[in-house]
Amino acid sequence: MPGVDVITPKPITELRSWVETLSGQKVARCYQCGKCTAGCPVAYVMDPTPRQVMRALQLGLEDELLRSSTMWICFYCMTCAARCPREIDITKVMEALRLVSAQRKATPAQKDFKLFHNLFISNLNRFGRIYELGLGLTYNLLGKHPLSKAELIPGMLARGKLSFIPHRVKNTDRIRDIFNRIKAFEKQGKP
Ligand code: SF4
Ligand code: SF4
Repeated sequence: MPGVDVITPKPITELRSWVETLSGQKVARCYQCGKCTAGCPVAYVMDPTPRQVMRALQLGLEDELLRSSTMWICFYCMTCAARCPREIDITKVMEALRLVSAQRKATPAQKDFKLFHNLFISNLNRFGRIYELGLGLTYNLLGKHPLSKAELIPGMLARGKLSFIPHRVKNTDRIRDIFNRIKAFEKQGKP
């Protein structure tokens, strides 16, 4: 058919098997209704969208998925899971894709999303909460856009929305313990 790309589905790929094992979700159950994407508050910056992620898994488009930033943008609000008529928890699919991507050291086309995610998690691990000023400055320096949004800093400092000093929550040891347990769990399976 002229003008139409026909993709031949591949046999079940290694990525799909890992995603199904780690997430406990069956990719084949998705019938592409698109309700997940329609409800996702950040679908407009995702490429592929949640529905397209499910289709890419069905078709075995591994490289396209691992190069995408979608799983690093998802913030686990669970709207997609709540709306899916096939009861697929897409949040868990996104989580599994992150895990595989991290373990294979895949670099998404838009590196900044993964960078922000990693810095966010490392802030939580270190302080038990987000140290906004430190996170913003480190993100800007490592992302090589040192002055991005810098014009917002004076106003936020004046309103007490940013602090120069990081504030730790009590019991950071317990939070580190959670992170250590997650690391140990991740080592159990190596996609
Ligand atoms: S809502 Fe469920 S069935 Fe519909 S496209 Fe999304 S994952 Fe597939
Ligand atoms: S959990 Fe992620 S993919 Fe699902 S609706 Fe929320 S942000 Fe979108």
